[in-house]
Amino acid sequence: MATRSQAKLAEIRRILGEGPDLHVLDLDEAGVAPDPVEDDLEPHDTFEENALSKARHFHALTGLPTVADDSGLEVDALAGAPGVRSKRFAPDPGLSGKAMDEANNRHLLRLLEATPEEERGARYVCTAVLVREGGEPLVCRGEVEGRIRGEPRGSGGFGYDPLFLVPELGKCFAEVTMDEKNRMSHRGRAFRALARALAGEG
Ligand code: IMP
Repeated sequence: MATRSQAKLAEIRRILGEGPDLHVLDLDEAGVAPDPVEDDLEPHDTFEENALSKARHFHALTGLPTVADDSGLEVDALAGAPGVRSKRFAPDPGLSGKAMDEANNRHLLRLLEATPEEERGARYVCTAVLVREGGEPLVCRGEVEGRIRGEPRGSGGFGYDPLFLVPELGKCFAEVTMDEKNRMSHRGRAFRALARALAGEG
């Protein structure tokens, strides 16, 4: 699984459900040490191209079947931004982890300060890609619709979850369990579709 994000990895392991036939290796377990070139693997304008780029890179290094996830938040009032730039949305340089997430959320709230409640529609998008030897890549997309709240709530999830309100739940993704999030989330939908596509190949 081509990610260094422990939060993503935990969700994906849970969605796929590891068992005797499936073991998800993270990059450390696959023996791939962190490398600055990884920062340049997502230069494209679509989730599909970025996910393919990541999966191909790590497949070439490991020779293992490699899955990558490229995901992000599209906000209607911002013409789809931050989209593929969701991870590094805030202008604050050099942040990572929780500090980066919090800066992104503050930046988003500032940009939406003057946007009324009814115009705060948004969606999370996730593209999951599998690259392996001797087969075409599998590419699956999942989306979930929501609204951007006026202030953060909850402590679960990661990234924009404290601001992403899901109308069907009446809560944001930071206020529900991982299983509840996975049932509805962009990542849950994309990875279940990927598992179905793989099973369908026999
Ligand atoms: P990626 O690692 O290039 O796919 O960037 C994903 C970024 O999109 C993350 O750093 C978050 O900012 C945002 N994002 C994607 N999925 C989620 C999610 O499930 N919850 C919250 N933020 C997310």
